[in-house]
Amino acid sequence: MSTHVTRLQGREAVARQTMAFHLDKPTGFSFKPGQAIDVVLLETPGTDAQSARHTFSIVSAPFENELIVATRMRDTAFKRVLGALPIGAGIAIEGPFGSLTLHNDRARPAVFIAGGIGITPFMSIVRQAVHDGLPQRLVLLYSNRRPEDAAYLSELQELERHNPNVRLTATMTLMGDSSQGWSGPRGQIDEAFLQRAAADLAQPVFYVAGPPGLVEAMRQTLNDTGVNDDDIRSEEFYGY
Ligand SMILES: Cc1cc2nc3c(=O)[nH]c(=O)nc-3n(C[C@H](O)[C@H](O)[C@H](O)COP(=O)(O)OP(=O)(O)OC[C@H]3O[C@@H](n4cnc5c(N)ncnc54)[C@H](O)[C@@H]3O)c2cc1C
Repeated sequence: MSTHVTRLQGREAVARQTMAFHLDKPTGFSFKPGQAIDVVLLETPGTDAQSARHTFSIVSAPFENELIVATRMRDTAFKRVLGALPIGAGIAIEGPFGSLTLHNDRARPAVFIAGGIGITPFMSIVRQAVHDGLPQRLVLLYSNRRPEDAAYLSELQELERHNPNVRLTATMTLMGDSSQGWSGPRGQIDEAFLQRAAADLAQPVFYVAGPPGLVEAMRQTLNDTGVNDDDIRSEEFYGY
């Protein structure tokens, strides 16, 4: 793990109240898809050092020449400063770290379960896998309240359309609040949902990322359907 000072190249909205931040990739910086970095603001927004530092999974894939992180823009000191940083401003990153990375046995499919912004590590994994033409089957189960909240949904739909190894099932849990149409599944990911999604997969490895409540519920549901803990990997995103 190392520390680099890099620059903010740009930012864009990727869903409602959700921004992606594009950073220069420092020379020599390498990471595995699914890993995270600490983003450290050079000007501390609060009184404690902790409020200047947040952990984010890297959305971009190693083959890309920039680093992208994405987050819900809640009203916290860190995010206020990050959201207002001028383009070109310096920003420190530490990392990479984390082991939510794709298993090596290409014969075993991966099932990624993302709650909201928990999609970030899986974006990097899927982008890199498609770029490399990996033969592995990748199944993505993506749960959001509404389509407006689902970051990178259209990119994932596009990746699925062009890659037989990628399968996406997105579900919306609060369509009553949405101003967009949705013809896909509704409701939370439950046991029946998981069984349908994995029915044709031989010995899949499951990955879960999102708010702690979702991660805990998914681990329990997977255990209930007979999946061994050894085949479940997860990352909890606190603060939502
Ligand atoms: C490996 C990893 C990858 C992550 N990737 C992303 C990502 O890609 N995008 C993203 O938006 N977020 C990601 N997160 C979560 C992110 O680091 C922040 O916690 C989140 O964005 C909330 O920040 P906030 O400023 O809105 O709230 P904060 O004010 O930072 O937190 C809100 C509440 O959550 C509590 N909390 C925060 N962090 C922790 C913690 N680690 N353990 C226990 N309690 C905690 C705080 O005490 C506070 O009560 C990741 C976290 C981890 C560990």
